[in-house]
Amino acid sequence: MVPAIDGYPVIVVSLADFVCCSYKGCGALRPLTEASENRPCPGCGRV
Ligand SMILES: [Zn+2]
Repeated sequence: MVPAIDGYPVIVVSLADFVCCSYKGCGALRPLTEASENRPCPGCGRV
C-alpha cells in the first residue's frame, strides 16, 4: 500500500518516519514530517 500526503504519493521505507522522494531520478530520503509540511525536497528541490 502506498500512502499519500497532500496528494503526493510517497514510498515508505524501512522506518515509517522516512519517505523517499517519488520524483523520477531523485528518490532522496527525507523525514516524513518534512514531506508532510510540503518543504522542498533536498534532492531535487521540488515539493
Ligand atoms: Zn526529490
